[in-house]
Amino acid sequence: METRHDTRARDAAFAEVILPLQGGVYTYAVPGELVPLVGEGSLVVVPLGRSKRYTGVVKRLTGERPQYKNIREVLSVHRNFPPVGRTMLALWEWVAEYYMCGVGDAMRVALPAALKPAGFSDVELDARAYRPATQVDIALGDALDGMDGLNEAFEKLRRRGPKMYEALVGIVAALGEADPFTASVPRGSLGIDPVVIGRLEKKGLVRRLTTDVPPGGQVVPEPVAENLLPTLSKVQAEAVSRIDAAFENTATVLLHGVTGSGKTEIYIRLIARQLAAGKDVLYLLPEIAMTAQTVARLRRFFGDRVIPYHSSYPVRRKTENFIRASSSSGGTLIVGARSAVFLPGEKLGLVIVDEEHDPSYKNHESAPRYNARDTAVVLAGMSGAKTLLGSATPSLESYANAMAGKYGYVYVGERFGGTPMPDIVVSDTVAASKRGERETHFNKLTLDNLSDALANGRQAMLFQNRRGFSPFVECTRCGWTASCPNCNVTLTYHKSEASLRCHYCGYGQGMPAACPGCGQKAVQPRGFGTEKVEEELAALFPGAVIERLDRDTATSEKRFSAIIRSFEEGRTDILVGTQMITKGFDFGGVSLVAVLNADNLLAYPDFRASERAFQLLTQVAGRAGRRDRQGRVIIQTGQPQHPVIVQAVSGDYAAMARSQLAERREFFYPPYCRIVNVHLRHADRQAVQQAAGELAGELRTVFGKRVCGPQPPPVDKVGGLYLERIMLKVERESSFGKAKAILRDRIAALGRHPVHRKVTVYCDVDPI
Ligand code: ADP
Ligand code: ZN
Ligand code: ZN
Repeated sequence: METRHDTRARDAAFAEVILPLQGGVYTYAVPGELVPLVGEGSLVVVPLGRSKRYTGVVKRLTGERPQYKNIREVLSVHRNFPPVGRTMLALWEWVAEYYMCGVGDAMRVALPAALKPAGFSDVELDARAYRPATQVDIALGDALDGMDGLNEAFEKLRRRGPKMYEALVGIVAALGEADPFTASVPRGSLGIDPVVIGRLEKKGLVRRLTTDVPPGGQVVPEPVAENLLPTLSKVQAEAVSRIDAAFENTATVLLHGVTGSGKTEIYIRLIARQLAAGKDVLYLLPEIAMTAQTVARLRRFFGDRVIPYHSSYPVRRKTENFIRASSSSGGTLIVGARSAVFLPGEKLGLVIVDEEHDPSYKNHESAPRYNARDTAVVLAGMSGAKTLLGSATPSLESYANAMAGKYGYVYVGERFGGTPMPDIVVSDTVAASKRGERETHFNKLTLDNLSDALANGRQAMLFQNRRGFSPFVECTRCGWTASCPNCNVTLTYHKSEASLRCHYCGYGQGMPAACPGCGQKAVQPRGFGTEKVEEELAALFPGAVIERLDRDTATSEKRFSAIIRSFEEGRTDILVGTQMITKGFDFGGVSLVAVLNADNLLAYPDFRASERAFQLLTQVAGRAGRRDRQGRVIIQTGQPQHPVIVQAVSGDYAAMARSQLAERREFFYPPYCRIVNVHLRHADRQAVQQAAGELAGELRTVFGKRVCGPQPPPVDKVGGLYLERIMLKVERESSFGKAKAILRDRIAALGRHPVHRKVTVYCDVDPI
């Protein structure tokens, strides 16, 4: 019987091909001579449009001729590219279906650029395509006929070509003991001018042999040395047994371990076991920036088995790592951020999602707007693998799943080595001001603790979630503020460049000398960002070495690592930064962490604001007092009684979860429902409002009060386009798939409307 997956069906003359375009899947005829080469998952070159060529992935082969005429032909097959595995293809389709985009969108993020070259000609395609690295070996040439021939050649060259003579002597010497007429040596090992070798080659005295080097070189992974693994504490060892036990019942387990509990060591244990059993492991981290520290740590244990995947790698390295991972026959550890979820091959045994609560797992910028954590859970399901989600502050979604028994749950409540949890204190900014105990943006308590830390040779981290010098500038006379001409936001003042910049669209202009509104020289920076904190600290602590870590200073991975390393090695006394400093770093010398303004964490107009604020505060606090000594954390806020502040101070995750989940249930938000946000945008405000109103009305006839809006988002104009948003809330119990199908339908109908069709519409499923 022929199954759907019989990929080389003899009569399969048509291929459904996925192209990295919104349109998705196109059908092509497979010419006879290519039939034996094309299978499901093959990468093929196909024509599209008048003269463009694309690399596509064969989704399915079929013997059925499509209805339409003028079917075009597959032009060629990329022989150097391994086919996309069956599980991966299924995952792409899941992503497209679940996140409401095309399977071509999934392909676009999944495959590295060099595996999907496109262009107008074969030459262009070729120039962009991945080619395996090659090794060139040199052997004696056909013109040499045995020892006599060789001696004769030596004689001639000695007289007439001393350079060639020397080279040939060198080659024969390098061939060594082996039969000189069959052996070869790598060209790179000879140290001979390639021009001279070329001349010998012309005379037929030597031959060049070219072979492909498999991606990643010929790595022979070392065995996983059990005795080199860290010795687990009793608590950690127990956690491992509990995780094992939980995996007996559920495929996904949530490891809720406080900061510093040593989750990484627990992961390492589980990884080692999988690798030894010949399985692959996928280890996801929220941000690329974090991978370097973790990769180095994992390399110590797993050496060449570690395959890092990083969007900023050079093309060749990225492609080779992709191929190595996806065609692995087991025993490798893939480490990477979001898009690494598309790497594993068919031998996946375990997925680890570290800091699973982190919002950067969700791609919200372009299709596919996928959440790599959730996609990883699905991939594990398809592969028969397990998933371990780890966090000190789990997302309420995962926590609720754990509480409902859908996920296993393992809690580790103490730090490794008995290090006490940090001592968190709240410092009321309003009260401090009244008492005259506030200098610029620092409360006296913060400054006193900072002095102490420095006097004791310890380090401090200061967190402020705004970069730049000040988030806006204002005229003190007339109230004018600088705003972006393209977006509905104020411009951020960056003092070091004397510029005002838009953090949404990148627009920039100079700082005006006089107010454009009233002409007075009265424009002042307002509020404060990391750049200002740095400047003020420098004035207060002239002897301290201060560095800043935010998107303006960490312009490359190199710069980022340099700043981190300097702090790690104790060359920096104070590190000022945004979110970037909160992410899972393990620094030994930090005795003080200060949050300079917790209020703007609490002020986000989003149902997740409280959860996020708790997570951020707890994660920043977790950087203090690692390795034996207790650390101190100071939270400056004008709302010391705010429940989230109180919960963060007492480290009471359960209390936060209880109160937040109660609110979510009452107001019908995730995890008690699922959300799809429908975004609309257009340069004409009225056009987008009308289209949004029309679509919302249509949706209401089907979904009733599950439809909220349309409403403009908090920043309602970005890059010259006006935005509107409709929120659709779907009960957990009803079919999400059906709801999305109806939604898709209505959006398609809008796309056929004579007026509204010009408005861009897209969906964000499970928005974060
Ligand atoms: P988490 O990720 O849970 O916040 P880490 O994995 O960063 O915690 O561990 C905290 C610190 O304790 C690190 O410095 C780590 O090297 C150390 N540590 C944890 N477990 C062990 C162990 N079993 N042996 C040695 N050091 C450990
Ligand atoms: Zn003015
Ligand atoms: Zn802008």
